[in-house]
Amino acid sequence: MALSGSPHGLKVLFVSPEAAPLVKTGGLGDVSGSLPLALRGLGMEVRLVLPLYRQVNLKAHGIKPAGLSLSVPVGGRLWTAQVFTASLKGCQVYLLANEELFGREGIYGPNGGDYADNPLRFTFFCRGAIELARALDWPAQVVHAHDWQTALLPALLETKACDPGPLSGAATVLTIHNLAYQGIYEREAFAVTGLPHWLNSPMGLEFWGNISLLKAGLVTARALTTVSPTYAEEVTTPEGGHGLEGVLAQRHESLHGILNGADYADWSPETDRFLPEVYSRGDMKGKLVCRDKLLAAFGLEKAGKRTSVLSFVGRLVYQKGVDIIIKAAPRLLLDDLRLCILGTGDPEQEAMLQDLARAHPGRLGVRLAFDDELAHLLTAGSDLLAMPSRYEPCGLNQIYALRYGTAPVVREVGGLKDTVQPFDPMSGQGTGFTFQPFHERDLTCAVREALWTRQRPNLWHGLTANAMSQDFSWQRSARAYAGLYAGLVSS
Ligand code: ADP
Repeated sequence: MALSGSPHGLKVLFVSPEAAPLVKTGGLGDVSGSLPLALRGLGMEVRLVLPLYRQVNLKAHGIKPAGLSLSVPVGGRLWTAQVFTASLKGCQVYLLANEELFGREGIYGPNGGDYADNPLRFTFFCRGAIELARALDWPAQVVHAHDWQTALLPALLETKACDPGPLSGAATVLTIHNLAYQGIYEREAFAVTGLPHWLNSPMGLEFWGNISLLKAGLVTARALTTVSPTYAEEVTTPEGGHGLEGVLAQRHESLHGILNGADYADWSPETDRFLPEVYSRGDMKGKLVCRDKLLAAFGLEKAGKRTSVLSFVGRLVYQKGVDIIIKAAPRLLLDDLRLCILGTGDPEQEAMLQDLARAHPGRLGVRLAFDDELAHLLTAGSDLLAMPSRYEPCGLNQIYALRYGTAPVVREVGGLKDTVQPFDPMSGQGTGFTFQPFHERDLTCAVREALWTRQRPNLWHGLTANAMSQDFSWQRSARAYAGLYAGLVSS
């Protein structure tokens, strides 16, 4: 039992739709794969619950049947969840299997879309997590849910829509990883959730004539968190709230911004297994080797030391603002610059990038792929990393770039604002370059400021040394979550 105010020995049921390396479609997978381990490192007892999608490789991760089968009542029918289990670096993981619901081609839907019966699939998963705690007789003190897929869990527990069993005293926490994804379905789907009728209203799940599964958690969870302090403020505004700003503003006292961490075991230039040569703050020679290999990988002309390499990696979607990189590129390339872009996503953006590469052979390279190894090389071999996001809940690439001595050029939003300090050549303080208005002109100005700084080796050396000494480790974030949990349990 946890002492009041201390997280030591606290029992945490961590319920997530994904966790790396078992299953990952984005940043949420990284968080759920790392945070439980960091919480364990602080002395908490953490059990992680995931759906067993067809995509999860049982053999590769040592996943075995737990010899346990659960009956899960959803939508007037009893469903069976076969429980599988594994150990993720010492953290106990339970996976709930049901072939009809999770043995499918897609995780959330076909080709990045949405299955119409997702309310059923994820009600099953949330109810299944409660049945699992009952079967294990495991009285977690904190139940931590993530995004729309598990937002029903706090609602089921807090409203006692079903018998919560050993979870009856648990404090519920919901983390919002990206408010743009809200789990919106037709109103008829409310019935399947099993939630009390009063939640089938604008005070509950109703959202402009539909239902939002995320909203179930936003209105009921004991505490809400999101993945950076600035994003926690932005989601309460019309610009950042995606229509949910009113609900979040009402709950602002329970809403906490806790920055994500980086897994430096995977992302450090001293040990990175994907690099042709590793390097460190004290010896940066390897970075030039990485740059040569990067330019070759993108089919670009070799470049001398004074030429700068500016890159982008990420999903090619509206959020990430690649459209202003595309608009800025012809002007940027008037400078002594190479541009490397790695990503997949919107077919229209992909086509525009391919046109751009054809128009600037040898100077601008595009790879339309999801390639982890190339992402590491790009982070190491570039001088500058552009992230002109329209909004950015936290963002990981800029955090990785800092550690690799690659200066981020970022828009001042969300987690980008919280992790990159603008460089001031007078004081020598700062870790990157920032701009505010979402316009190619402002991105270009910030890149030019970076290029000016790069031509002054003393300033550049100071900047990269500042960047490389930043600490955004998971231990730091885990301590913030631990403080939140301890406060909830003792209140
Ligand atoms: P988001 O979760 O919004 O996609 P983040 O910056 O939080 O953005 O995390 C994205 C993660 O996915 C990073 O680890 C990034 O390196 C990786 N990533 C995104 N696109 C690609 C790609 N095309 N190839 C390799 N890695 C990618």
